[in-house]
Amino acid sequence: MFKHTIPTFLRVLFPTLTWRVKTQDQAVFLTFDDGPHPQITHWVLQQLKRYQAKATFFCVGENAQKYPELLSAITANGHRLGNHTMNHLSGWSTPNHYYYQNIQACEKVVASNLFRPPYGRITLNQIRNLKRMGYQIIMWDILTRDYDANLPIQQTFTQCMRHIKPGSVVVFHDSEKAQNQLYQLLPLFLQHLSQQGYQFAPLPNA
Ligand SMILES: [Zn+2]
Repeated sequence: MFKHTIPTFLRVLFPTLTWRVKTQDQAVFLTFDDGPHPQITHWVLQQLKRYQAKATFFCVGENAQKYPELLSAITANGHRLGNHTMNHLSGWSTPNHYYYQNIQACEKVVASNLFRPPYGRITLNQIRNLKRMGYQIIMWDILTRDYDANLPIQQTFTQCMRHIKPGSVVVFHDSEKAQNQLYQLLPLFLQHLSQQGYQFAPLPNA
């Protein structure tokens, strides 16, 4: 069992979610969850710039509210914003009406129809309703687990590179918990994938 990919049965169970982008291009889709964070997001933007890489930032609304200048910096640099709820709520343990309210509150700040459920926890009912409300729900096929300080970086990197392919959606976190791992992993990803001829693009509309 690979720690860094999503089991096929989940993709089959939830075919209306985006797990990977259909693309003819040699492109991967880097995503950064849980920010923005004043130092870490700023650092990420600098790294991306060095490779002319574009990405998508799934912001937590309460963080986005605190750092509007970071939101502007993200979009001004050609990246895309996504909604990650106002308060990082799990869809499994939140009443539906409150979950939707929290997502709409976040949308007022980040203005995006891309949505990623925190912890990947969302119910079929919520998926249906959010799609009806116009959201495109973005999952991933490559999870770096950068929030886990116990995972050896080189092993994580090797596993991710073994599974990555054109259209892959990769999850990083611009958060303090992930900072140490992120600061090692992201430069490795950017350098190695660039050498392989990959481009880094923001998520497209469905
Ligand atoms: Zn999150």
